[in-house]
Amino acid sequence: MSKKKQLVAEPPPILPRTGVESHAHLNGRAFNADFDQVIERAAAAGVAQIIQVFLSPEAWQRDKSLFDAHPHVFFILGIHPTEAHLFSCDVVEKIRQAVLSDTRIRAIGEIGLDFYWKECPPAIQKKFFIKQLALARQLSLPVVVHCRDAESETFALLETQGFSGYPLLWHCFGGDSAMAGRIVGNGWYLSVPGPVTFPANAILRKAVADVPEDRLLVETDSPYLSPIPLRGKRNEPANLGYTIAAMAEARQMAPADLWTICGNNARRFFGIGTLGT
Ligand SMILES: [Zn+2]
Repeated sequence: MSKKKQLVAEPPPILPRTGVESHAHLNGRAFNADFDQVIERAAAAGVAQIIQVFLSPEAWQRDKSLFDAHPHVFFILGIHPTEAHLFSCDVVEKIRQAVLSDTRIRAIGEIGLDFYWKECPPAIQKKFFIKQLALARQLSLPVVVHCRDAESETFALLETQGFSGYPLLWHCFGGDSAMAGRIVGNGWYLSVPGPVTFPANAILRKAVADVPEDRLLVETDSPYLSPIPLRGKRNEPANLGYTIAAMAEARQMAPADLWTICGNNARRFFGIGTLGT
């Protein structure tokens, strides 16, 4: 009979307002009822900036005004691999026009490959991934990658398309030290979500411990992937403290220090100035 080790302190650590939520979907139904409080709680929990993900030019057009009163929220825009079959190729031009008209859009994403969900055929996913990578390069914007059950294909595609050394963030990282090493070896960044707090994810925590600190970001992927002790509940940016606590414990450093480091990495990656502009 062994007592299970408590991985994360509760309540979460008090954090300075220096962090960045690097990936959240706040424009959905999940946040209809308390959107303003979600934004307020994030700031009170130390989140200085939020990266909001729009999954289509239509979603951006429809919902961007939600964030007009919140200039510390920045955007990324792209066609998700599981939805690529729902679009025609002219959507890439619409993304281009959106980027040119809105300086808050700071990256193309989330784009990539997802062979876990079966709705969208791999060939269509690859076509849209390649087209959006080309757009990012044309616009000199960073790329945020979504990859699920398609690691070898995603690495191969990015490496053969010449994206080694390009500003690229591997969002929702859940791999081991070898995979993290390949990401970092390509000059890319990785962003760590709430499941790093799950007892079973020791391999992920080892990877987090092994990554150079200037490559690490932290995210919620709200409303999904709540950290322990909130697993199964709706996630929101204010919960990042639990995630950063688990990452900091893995790296044997103070949560507030890692929080600021990850925030600085995110601001550098997304081109956000120290004054938040
Ligand atoms: Zn996402």
